[in-house]
Amino acid sequence: MRIPFIAGNWKMNKTAKESIEFVHAVSNKLPDPTVVESAVAAPAIVLQSMVEAAKNSPLRIVGENCFYENNGAYTGEISPAVLKEIGVNYVILGHSERRLYFHESDELINKKVLAAIENNLKPIVCCDETMGRQAAGDKIHWVVSQIMADLRGLTEEQMKTVTVAYEPSWAIGTGQSASSDQADEGCYLIRQTIADVYSDELADHIRVLYGGSVNPENIAEIMAKPNIDGVLVGNASLEAESFIQLANYQK
Ligand code: 13P
Repeated sequence: MRIPFIAGNWKMNKTAKESIEFVHAVSNKLPDPTVVESAVAAPAIVLQSMVEAAKNSPLRIVGENCFYENNGAYTGEISPAVLKEIGVNYVILGHSERRLYFHESDELINKKVLAAIENNLKPIVCCDETMGRQAAGDKIHWVVSQIMADLRGLTEEQMKTVTVAYEPSWAIGTGQSASSDQADEGCYLIRQTIADVYSDELADHIRVLYGGSVNPENIAEIMAKPNIDGVLVGNASLEAESFIQLANYQK
């Protein structure tokens, strides 16, 4: 059974103080994690204090990025081993903003995914889709090739730790969500790719999320779709009240 996964991605939007206030505000208003798992991703600098603040809460604390080495001469980078050490369990990798502003390639993302898994972090691997690709009718090739490149070389056992997110960049931060059918189609494509490369059994096990202008008004319709197991939410995850509504979308 795939437990629904509702994850906020704050990006670079909160101060350290605001981050802790948020954790305290949502802590006892979230669903039982065996029914719906709720999580927020935050910048590395605040993760340790968020993990401590969330100790008695079902809220999972997620990294927004990490490097592919645990240590060494890599000024400014985030060690996956240290993320694990401070109590982080999930890390977002390959977000479209990392691809766009930091020029991350599928090859680099693949190395990061492997390093995260070696450190017992569960990667949330994002698959991008630009407006241009969609307009060019290139969606299937683009999504499939990205997923195959980002997950290259993972064993079936390693794949079981992965969550994949379909995040068309034309829907991110625009207030213009994909329709629930478009979102479902993207998630279906990802699941089908996993079935083709690995097995139906693995494809059935893996959670696939949709991200792009999800909010408390549209979440229920999106989550009702058969291939969508959760959402990755930017803007609408920033306010505690809005996040509580998202996490409790079933009520
Ligand atoms: P928005 O929800 O602000 O569109 O952002 C989506 C996103 O990028 C989540 O990773």
